[in-house]
Amino acid sequence: MNALEHQLDYPFGDTLPEGGTRFEVAPGVYWLRMPLPFALDHINLWLLRDRQDGKEGWTIIDCGINHEAIRGYWETIFANHLDGLPVLRVLVTHCHPDHVGLSNWLCEGGDEKRWNVRLWMSLGDYAFARMLVGGTGASNAGGEFAARHFERHGLTDPTSIEGIRNRKDYYSTLVPGVPSQYRRLMDGDVVAIGEHKWRVITGFGHAPEHVALYSEDANVLISGDMVLPRISTNVSVFDLEPEADSLTLYLDSLGKYEPLPADVLILPSHGRPFRGLHTRPPCGPAGRNVGCVQGRAAIGTRHRQCHLQAPVRCAPDDLRDGRGARPPACAVASRRTGARNRRGRYRSIPRNCITAQPVLSTGADHG
Ligand SMILES: [Zn+2]
Repeated sequence: MNALEHQLDYPFGDTLPEGGTRFEVAPGVYWLRMPLPFALDHINLWLLRDRQDGKEGWTIIDCGINHEAIRGYWETIFANHLDGLPVLRVLVTHCHPDHVGLSNWLCEGGDEKRWNVRLWMSLGDYAFARMLVGGTGASNAGGEFAARHFERHGLTDPTSIEGIRNRKDYYSTLVPGVPSQYRRLMDGDVVAIGEHKWRVITGFGHAPEHVALYSEDANVLISGDMVLPRISTNVSVFDLEPEADSLTLYLDSLGKYEPLPADVLILPSHGRPFRGLHTRPPCGPAGRNVGCVQGRAAIGTRHRQCHLQAPVRCAPDDLRDGRGARPPACAVASRRTGARNRRGRYRSIPRNCITAQPVLSTGADHG
């Protein structure tokens, strides 16, 4: 948890919009909140008033996972909170299931197929999502390579290893499909959505090519999972890319937020909208260095603890009572504090320095 959370400003107090309702956080920008069956029990989605080629409507940002209850909340939104207008596009920040899960269903207009609109994503995350949905199960947050990956980094419990080895449909259950066509978003692109212009800020280390959106005229940052007010972003090394330096990629990505104004309203995917960008994460040059050290120290503590969690099956039916737990999808990037080599990169990861998805044992401490 963020020890500096008390320094953040939550302009809407304890407001949490219930499923199937919307709450306006900036002119034409609405907050939707949907449940998740994980330790992290909710996701924020955004509904933006839009106009394309003279046609009035809406842009949806992020989707929620495939689950009957969430589809029901969306149907309520369609019926009661779109002012009789259609959705014009679906924009997804990154490929994680809670963000891209219902993308195909939303692009097709829900159960009644009310519209057929384009999905907007980065190439990196679109391709990754397509690969995971269409894959054989290997590297699909489970399978033989994932099991070996966890074993290499200290998981010894045979039941847990076998659980990972046999888990091959985790992603495709939560993300049953991704549209077969998309529109590519690239760093620096400016997307006009209704009255506001939004600049794409790509980020790395949490997802292959995460997209955040910043509107200077609205003074709003839709931060996805890159900037969260309370919990720490999940920075992971998957079996697909065992030598990934995800932590360096993530920390370096935070530099892109340094020029943004201190009073920008941040709309995160988890937690409440807040102000305090330069407090959390530590985006200033000095602060970022401090944050790096703190982050590495925290990770160091964590990997010494070396929590390893049994792969509890995430049953979508658990959504209502929130007791579901996310199975270990990956190993969390870990580095010895300050241990850089001559090129300034972190040294290779020693055995036992990666913790198997501590989100499972630390509650909602990851996005
Ligand atoms: Zn994510």
